[in-house]
Amino acid sequence: MDHAPLKMESLLGHLVEITGHRDHDLLDISTMSALLNMIGVGQARVLELFQSHGDLLVRPRVWIEEGKVRILDEEDAPAEQPCEPIVRFPALVNCIAQRRSRVEETRSDGSHALWVPVWQNDKVSTCLEIVNAHPFTPQMLQVMEGILSVYRNYQSLLDYSERDSLTGLLNRKTFDEKFARMISSKMPESSNRNDRRHVHANSQWLAVVDIDHFKRVNDRFGHLYGDEVLILVANILRSSFRSQDRVFRFGGEEFVILLRSTTLDEARMIFDRFRTNVEQHTFPQVGTITVSVGFTAITPETPVVILGHADQALYHAKENGRNRVCYYDDLLAQGIITIGNKPDESVEFFFDEPSA
Ligand code: GH3
Ligand code: MG
Ligand code: MG
Repeated sequence: MDHAPLKMESLLGHLVEITGHRDHDLLDISTMSALLNMIGVGQARVLELFQSHGDLLVRPRVWIEEGKVRILDEEDAPAEQPCEPIVRFPALVNCIAQRRSRVEETRSDGSHALWVPVWQNDKVSTCLEIVNAHPFTPQMLQVMEGILSVYRNYQSLLDYSERDSLTGLLNRKTFDEKFARMISSKMPESSNRNDRRHVHANSQWLAVVDIDHFKRVNDRFGHLYGDEVLILVANILRSSFRSQDRVFRFGGEEFVILLRSTTLDEARMIFDRFRTNVEQHTFPQVGTITVSVGFTAITPETPVVILGHADQALYHAKENGRNRVCYYDDLLAQGIITIGNKPDESVEFFFDEPSA
């Protein structure tokens, strides 16, 4: 009883910490710390669930190891991260199939595991695995449930602020934050901005996508059908890229993709496969539509300049028949554009200018 105020103080401290960040990683880390300190669990992981080539896979994002909280460094992790098929965890599969909020299992080594899927509407994209050497006591479960409720609520608030409400893709604000962070962590300040020799084999790539003649869709079928097309294009985007890539709705019918370490040939192939996927899709009532794509390597330059390069490539795709993928460095090599010849490296796409 003497320790109750201390416990309460510590719990409040953890709650402040959990809700004190606007970042999924920090939320995961502070939740793991709270579980570690308040309940003393020996082992816990935050797992991400995602689809790849039709298989449902899990990958640890944050975990407790030897009494410390560890996090997967996505930037430094190899392209193929330590994923496991979800079927290796039958208790978790059953828990999700039965739509339960948690399930306990006793393992062959005598340890006790608790699976806690984080339900958002009808879907689970994150799950916690908490392992203890001894059975969980009712008191442990109660404290854990409290911490996890705060975690769930705060995660859905974060998701809401990061995503676009029509398509569910990450929004422009999230792009600005992620892209600035990605560049500042990777790129030395002093690099020569016009030096493109650093476009090496395993670069990261940025593409901008703009739907072709989208005004016509709205004009012919109405805004509601236009919105439906945007939702379906977002679905094609989600299924055309890998889990480690990131897809954003940048504005109206414009999207941005960040492609993780891959070769130029693969980047070309991946972007062109997406373009073909759109071209081959039949949209209810509307029929077929196409997209134009401009892409560039992510080089030691400012976000505005990099976006400007992808934008120039997109402009070229639009000017040369649409429904195509253009690469900024190809246009440079062909002398179609030259570095620094553009008066204004605007972040806005050319196609947003009001027509006369
Ligand atoms: P282009 O091939 O040159 O890109 O032609 P476009 O007609 O697609 O031209 P532009 O990209 O400038 O047009 C964008 C249009 O997208 C204008 C606007 O009416 C429409 N739009 C933007 N946001 C939304 C939205 O949220 N819903 C719907 N239905 N339409 C949108
Ligand atoms: Mg357009
Ligand atoms: Mg546009």
